[in-house]
Amino acid sequence: MRFSQSLIPTLREPPANAEIPSHILLLRAGMIRQLASGLFTWLPLGVRVLQKIERIVRQELTKRGACEILMPFVQPAELWRESERWDAMGPDLARLADRHKNEYCLSPTHEEVVTDLFRNNISSYRQLPCNLFQINTKFRDEIRPRFGVLRSREFIMKDAYSFHLDEETFNETYRAMYDAYSAVLERLDLEYRAVQADPGLIGDGESHEFHVLAQVGEDALAFSENSSYAANVERAEAIAVGARPDPSHQLEKVSTPGIASIDSLVQFLGIERDQVAKTIVARGANSPIALVLRGDHELNELKAARLPDVLQPLQFASDAEIERAFNCRPGSIGPVGTEVPVYVDRAAANLSDFACGANENDFHYTGVNWERDVACDRVVDIRRVREGDPAPDGSGPLSIVRGIEVGHIFQLGTKYSKSMQASVLDSDGKNTYPLMGCYGIGITRLAAAIVEQRHDDIGIDWPIEAAPATVHIISLNAERSELVQQTAEKVYDECLGAGVDAIYDDRSERPGVKFADADLIGIPHRIMIGERGMQRNQVEYRFRRGEIEAIAPSSVVERLRS
Ligand code: ATP
Ligand code: MG
Repeated sequence: MRFSQSLIPTLREPPANAEIPSHILLLRAGMIRQLASGLFTWLPLGVRVLQKIERIVRQELTKRGACEILMPFVQPAELWRESERWDAMGPDLARLADRHKNEYCLSPTHEEVVTDLFRNNISSYRQLPCNLFQINTKFRDEIRPRFGVLRSREFIMKDAYSFHLDEETFNETYRAMYDAYSAVLERLDLEYRAVQADPGLIGDGESHEFHVLAQVGEDALAFSENSSYAANVERAEAIAVGARPDPSHQLEKVSTPGIASIDSLVQFLGIERDQVAKTIVARGANSPIALVLRGDHELNELKAARLPDVLQPLQFASDAEIERAFNCRPGSIGPVGTEVPVYVDRAAANLSDFACGANENDFHYTGVNWERDVACDRVVDIRRVREGDPAPDGSGPLSIVRGIEVGHIFQLGTKYSKSMQASVLDSDGKNTYPLMGCYGIGITRLAAAIVEQRHDDIGIDWPIEAAPATVHIISLNAERSELVQQTAEKVYDECLGAGVDAIYDDRSERPGVKFADADLIGIPHRIMIGERGMQRNQVEYRFRRGEIEAIAPSSVVERLRS
């Protein structure tokens, strides 16, 4: 690729409205441009990165028996009605109608289409297991597209779907995909973690997310330093510590005028937050439901939403609903003496002599004890784990890091094969619904995640396998020297001839400009060809920020190979 003939619009200054390093650097290095909110054009260097990532993904998947297909981006509504997701998807799903008024959607994912393909073409157990993948555009009308291509509306995903008649191959394929994703991230030289993920509404099957570690990551990941335990904080189990001490105080109702928050209560009573039980009220199928947590703990909404009778997704009761159910304002509610069903978090259930609202305006109880003063028969795990909590496998404290979710693998079970009637005949000639797995990697998000993790003050630091090119050839003041010009052309041709991917900065720009662009773009190997070296028949070789080495022009290819 000749710089002068390509489209590499680098920018000296950070562009407005790009907040995080990967977004800023991909724009500055001339790799992406925004068309409209959440819609991006990939420029020549960016496309090369995507192609390299896709190549790695293809290799790791085909090696493990997955077969590539390509499904339509526009999908008929009927399929989504069959799986009952047409209504369930809500406004993330972009819908359209054709000239005959038939309804369609822009693909956010392909379970429906692949299940339809399966039921129309696979009828016997002999054709199973099978694992089909594609690399294709997705559209999700994200409520808040942000961080450039990390969360866009249109993006490229590799999605794979596998079909099985038995648990054994189901688990085998799941494991193979887990290994494939790990291999992809290792080849990209990324620091990553595979964590247990929330299984969602469907199923109790396995689910893992692959996260590239980065400060800007939207997910918090809990992991044990001493074992392989790692889970998305959304999903990480919180276990109780120790046992509940015996009561030592009397129950007392105290006047707490104007006290309506945990902060003001602990100040007023001169106690710590972990001596208070706080009550949060969720909407339930039949009545409001009280969720009791220790005052210093936070509710995990996904866990709460899975409690029996609690509405999915979780909704909090309004102030008016709370007043009606508890006969007092929200700041004075508590579990003692209420008719409302009460779920108590494991840590809150271990409290004794604690404080809580008295279900009477401007009053709280102190010295409250479970069993003695209030029943505690629904103890559940509903809190968010935090740094230092004990790992559920008993291996020690949890640490928490932030990550960018780049991949997600999922055991779907028979949800789609059943709802879409995709059965096959098993070896006894009986109709059976196959088990399905689905596996996604965000290709465009992964490109940004690489930059997010691998950059410094001068620019991007591409891993060799994802770099837009292997070598960046720079001619210095070539317009003043025929020899420099000729040598640079020759080195470039030799690289291309030897199959070494090269970018050749043949512009008549000042050396400083060329160096700054090369730093920004971040191709690992660099060859610099200038007048001074020519006198000794030498060019300069440098690996990113490393020592400069003088080598003969004719040995460039060999040097790069080694
Ligand atoms: P998120 O929680 O970040 O919204 P998701 O869980 O909805 O993602 P999946 O349905 O698991 O995403 O999709 C598989 C992969 O597709 C994700 O791991 C991610 O890499 C990618 N992806 C999902 N949404 C986006 C998006 N808006 N922009 C870019 N990539 C995305
Ligand atoms: Mg996901």
